[in-house]
Amino acid sequence: MDVLIIGAGIIGSAVAEACARRGLCVQVLEAGIPAAGTTAAGMGHLVVLDDNPAELALSRDGLARWQARQHALPSQAEYRACGTLWLARDDEEMAEAERKQILLRQHGLDSQLLTADELRRCEPALVNGLAGALRRPDEAVLYPPVASRWLLSQAEALGAVLLRNAEVNCVNDEGEVSLSDGRTLRAANIIVAAGNQSTRLVPGLPLKPRKGQLLITERYPATVHHQLVELGYIRSAHTNDGDSVAFNVQPRATGQLLIGSSRQYNDLDSGLNWPLLQRMLARACEYLPGLLALQALRSWTGFRPATPDKLPLLGRVPGCQRLWLATGHEGLGITTALASGELLADLLCNTRPSLDPHPYDPARFDTWTAATPIQAVEAATC
Ligand SMILES: Cc1cc2nc3c(=O)[nH]c(=O)nc-3n(C[C@H](O)[C@H](O)[C@H](O)COP(=O)(O)OP(=O)(O)OC[C@H]3O[C@@H](n4cnc5c(N)ncnc54)[C@H](O)[C@@H]3O)c2cc1C
Repeated sequence: MDVLIIGAGIIGSAVAEACARRGLCVQVLEAGIPAAGTTAAGMGHLVVLDDNPAELALSRDGLARWQARQHALPSQAEYRACGTLWLARDDEEMAEAERKQILLRQHGLDSQLLTADELRRCEPALVNGLAGALRRPDEAVLYPPVASRWLLSQAEALGAVLLRNAEVNCVNDEGEVSLSDGRTLRAANIIVAAGNQSTRLVPGLPLKPRKGQLLITERYPATVHHQLVELGYIRSAHTNDGDSVAFNVQPRATGQLLIGSSRQYNDLDSGLNWPLLQRMLARACEYLPGLLALQALRSWTGFRPATPDKLPLLGRVPGCQRLWLATGHEGLGITTALASGELLADLLCNTRPSLDPHPYDPARFDTWTAATPIQAVEAATC
């Protein structure tokens, strides 16, 4: 066996597919149901974020790879190139939209600034009085659990093998994986893609669950045409403390509206946080007053696996040879799954990746002191 991948969420599935395409012999170990972890809770907005060059590079590459494969996806993946509107409330936010446009243009990404009137014509359901928007026409949405299972099925078609009910208890740098049913499996390389649970397997991992809540409405005739996001969303996504909400609404192919989003550290309860949900919906109604008349169908929570700098961990566990990480994608793992899979498969095969891997290298955090990783991983030896 060349590679054992722990976790069949969208990241493990993308890595499996990229490795299988390179002819590697791959086995995927999943404790529960494939794509039923954070992947099932995600919103599925395929979006380029530009808070720093590394985030921009990975999300841009990820979006381009989804675009290239959109026609191969099953219809149930509900891929739709609806575009994103970044909404500006006032002149200050409009200046932010202009800054964003200049930056995106430098990276070859098309966008259009919309005046208040153009915005109203484009999305009449939005509240009056917004200053304008930045439109990113080629961004898209999809339904994450179906897209994730499709990736896994592509990997299986290329020879990868999925082991269900395979809960991994511990791993080591000898290429050994120990399952809770007592079995030990061996491979040349082990990739931990277990989302938030990766911390159980690799002690010292700089990863924290960041809770989010979403709500979906009943089906209605379409009143919203783009993914709508307030420009303040980026502040909410990148803050490191406190609870935050930001307006973020997605029109689903079914006619439903998916409403987000909130961010919270230090709340590990998977139940709804009602006061925060109320804040999130109040925020949404400020932008889309018509929401008040709609019926909610379901609301749920999920936990984004977040690193301190919000960039994923893609590469070897520091100090290890055979133990790799593919986790920590926070709120961008659906967008960046294909880019992450390619990058990791290139590193594993020792081929030159198309992106600079250094910003995602787990060794960038000094929590991995020289003593920590090897000893810690060996302490967890099977
Ligand atoms: C509310 C919310 C909204 C989001 N919106 C977006 C969005 O619009 N766009 C976007 O790009 N991203 C979005 N995300 C982020 C995205 O959903 C995540 O980054 C991504 O799903 C992480 O995938 P993963 O494969 O790392 O983790 P997971 O999906 O959690 O997969 C990990 C898998 O590993 C398995 N596992 C764990 N431990 C073990 C073990 N010991 N042995 C075997 N298997 C194990 C689990 O069962 C699970 O199946 C959102 C997330 C949330 C919570």
